[in-house]
Amino acid sequence: MADKSRTPMRRKERKEKESAEMTKDVKKAKNEGEMEVDSGELPSAEVTVTNGSVANGENGDLQVEPMELPPFEIIAGDRIDPFVFKFQFKNVEYSSGRNKTFLCYLVDKGNSSDGLLRGYLEDEHTCAHAEEAFFIQCLPNYDPALKYTVTWYVSSSPCSACAAKVAEVLKARKNVKLSIFAARLFEWEEAEIQAGLRALHAAGCKLRVMKPLDFSYTWETFVENEEQPLNLWEDCKENYEYYQEKLADILQ
Ligand SMILES: [Zn+2]
Repeated sequence: MADKSRTPMRRKERKEKESAEMTKDVKKAKNEGEMEVDSGELPSAEVTVTNGSVANGENGDLQVEPMELPPFEIIAGDRIDPFVFKFQFKNVEYSSGRNKTFLCYLVDKGNSSDGLLRGYLEDEHTCAHAEEAFFIQCLPNYDPALKYTVTWYVSSSPCSACAAKVAEVLKARKNVKLSIFAARLFEWEEAEIQAGLRALHAAGCKLRVMKPLDFSYTWETFVENEEQPLNLWEDCKENYEYYQEKLADILQ
């Protein structure tokens, strides 16, 4: 549990940096009628972190097996609400108000009898993260004899703690191939975050920024879309190119 406290601390610092941007972003979202789903979360973004838990947070241990993960902190589901999707996956440059990660997953175990596993997880950055929860909730009966092809579509790329944990999992489980498509890069300017992404890359994880086509695919596959197409936002392609360039620089 202890090492999860690192990110809330970072989020808090980040929140302060972003506060100027936030007002603008919230107003914009309100105009788009999307803020309703998330408005309750802005005040709760402030996190109290005690000195004690931060001091214990530097061990970076990998715990793939049972962890203290209160189930109510992670929401698992079949299809995402369309309004929530449009807000959470929007590839804006500043992610203000989006203090959680949505992780859509597909798992192919290579044996046709099981078929594809599909669903999504949702977390708050103040508790256990979706990336970590995935291996416990979605791959609980890991079988070393199978070949797992796992694809994630995430609203933002992993924090440094999750990147390190996922990299460890991939190193320990060579038969798990993971591709991560991220709508936004989370705090990409931070050296620690960049190191995490490089560690993931080095562990064999395919890292990509979501293209306009990936948003449409995710909409069709993971959203209660009522058979309506996704109308991509105006700057979707531009924002993709922006993040794509940053990611290429980081992984170079
Ligand atoms: Zn994380």
